Amino acid sequence: MTKPMTHESAESPSKTEKQSILEQTEHSLIRWFVDRDFPKYRAKQVLSAIYQRRIDSFSDMTELSKDLRAKLDEHFYIFKTKTAESQQSEDGTEKLLLEMPDGGRIECVLLRDGPRRSVCLSSQVGCAMGCVFCASGLDGVDRNLTRGEILEQALKLQRLLEPEERLSHIVMMGMGEPLANLRNVLEALDVARDSDYGLGISPRRITISTVGLPPAIDKLAEAHSPFQLAISLHAPNDELRTRLVPVNKNIGIEAIMAATERYFAVTSRRLTFEYVLLKDLNDTPQCAEQLVKLLRRRTAMLNVIPYNPVPGLPYETPSSEAILEFRRILMEGGINVMFRQRKGNDIQAACGQLRRLREREPQIVTLNSHV
Ligand code: SAH
Repeated sequence: MTKPMTHESAESPSKTEKQSILEQTEHSLIRWFVDRDFPKYRAKQVLSAIYQRRIDSFSDMTELSKDLRAKLDEHFYIFKTKTAESQQSEDGTEKLLLEMPDGGRIECVLLRDGPRRSVCLSSQVGCAMGCVFCASGLDGVDRNLTRGEILEQALKLQRLLEPEERLSHIVMMGMGEPLANLRNVLEALDVARDSDYGLGISPRRITISTVGLPPAIDKLAEAHSPFQLAISLHAPNDELRTRLVPVNKNIGIEAIMAATERYFAVTSRRLTFEYVLLKDLNDTPQCAEQLVKLLRRRTAMLNVIPYNPVPGLPYETPSSEAILEFRRILMEGGINVMFRQRKGNDIQAACGQLRRLREREPQIVTLNSHV
């Protein structure tokens, strides 16, 4: 089901002079209040109204004086994106295509799985990694998202929940390479894990997914990152990995493995490797055997994901027989493996797909018309 949204207005010109409150840290907001002779506890009050009580406008923060609400409204806005499209899958997955004032479009997804309410967030507009099967990187990267733009995705999805439901998990698996935008991603995730005024999501339930950039993985380890790390491996040898994930050419699987071991040594966070199964490319019994050799002695989990086909790209999902055989070899090899079900199949839920689809359809021109 697709329902184009037309009611939300684009950012008005006066609004662009205001600042985004989602870009403020608790610290900078305290300064703002103190500079104006308001008590500093107001900062936490305002932030928790937005992140915890899901309040969307300063005028609804009735615990604040009228004067203060007006001042806040003069200086700040809360949301800057317009929901260009929202889709709901039959399995409860919801996807939003958000458009920013500069015209950049990003995707984010809410997944409902038993009691879990997970969100999949983007870290960049587009992606520079160039994975050949992925829709996000087909046109390269435009820019990094700010901390507020990353948080805004979580907040817009949070507002789709029933009042008694809470976001429980975050995966940085939307568009972009989170480790190429490490500072902003970590700032946003700090708010996500903060239970005082933020989303209060345990860092064990927050996963940063990366193509595998060793210097950035080392930075995370040095910072004693509390987050789960997932490495998008997709191939058991460098020759095949470089074909599928071109940035691998200058990195190599060995360097990634060494960095993940350093990360594990410091953080004790269990590592996950992601492996998207592509028909006749990386789904062969030989690949499974090589994977067993590569991962056998590591404390790692392998997440095998059947490919979600991208219109216009020549890659396909393997047959169920090939998937079963792949699974058998890994299990017999003693690998800790999970075969993920695809979610949101009917709504182009794989990374970057919705944006891509919309760019190719002439009727989307109307969605752009306010820019
Ligand atoms: N750049 C990061 C995070 C974004 S992609 C990374 O590479 O991990 C998140 C995951 O989705 C990656 O494992 C990516 O390879 C995978 N992916 C991309 N397109 C896909 C598709 N069409 N079907 C299934 N998985 C896909």
